[in-house]
Amino acid sequence: MNNIDYLRSVIRTVPDWPEEGVMFRDITPLFQNKKAFRKLIDTFVHRYYDHEIDAVAGVDARGFILGSPIAYELNTGFIPVRKKGKLPFETVQESYELEYGSATVELHTDSFKPGDKVLLIDDLIATGGTMIAAANLIKRLGAEVVEAAAIIDLPDLGGSAKLREQGIDVYSICEFE
Ligand code: IMP
Repeated sequence: MNNIDYLRSVIRTVPDWPEEGVMFRDITPLFQNKKAFRKLIDTFVHRYYDHEIDAVAGVDARGFILGSPIAYELNTGFIPVRKKGKLPFETVQESYELEYGSATVELHTDSFKPGDKVLLIDDLIATGGTMIAAANLIKRLGAEVVEAAAIIDLPDLGGSAKLREQGIDVYSICEFE
């Protein structure tokens, strides 16, 4: 089995969680398993090693677990894209629509230097709302999103297509229906 098939095989699907009809893709087994966690992080590190990344930005909260070791290996700092109300200094905010209601993400205004090349990372792309909001924040601060990267893309929900329409390159390790 190649690395990608192996990583995909470790992801656990939990039917009807958090509500009936949802197939929740649970990535905690990838973090828990030492062989899988190393292969997971190495896959991203190898992809971006020669991209001269200046900063890794990870989305609250699974993007923190993923982004921190990648940033360490790429020899960059790590920038947390946080849910509203968690960052103490001056922030920029972006809101986006959820199935029910809306959500807001924030970045500290001094997160990047103008022109910084940023790798944006989260665990999963569904409708793309979270990644698009995070990418907009990075761009508003004058930095460049090199790629929006995730472990999983759910292409049927259209998020990765929407990101690409907005000129943001997307990478995912695997896809699920
Ligand atoms: P989007 O904004 O609709 O693209 O949703 C992406 C966000 O929802 C990510 O931050 C994910 O952590 C979370 N999410 C949505 N569905 C799943 C799932 O099946 N497994 C894990 N996380 C999910």
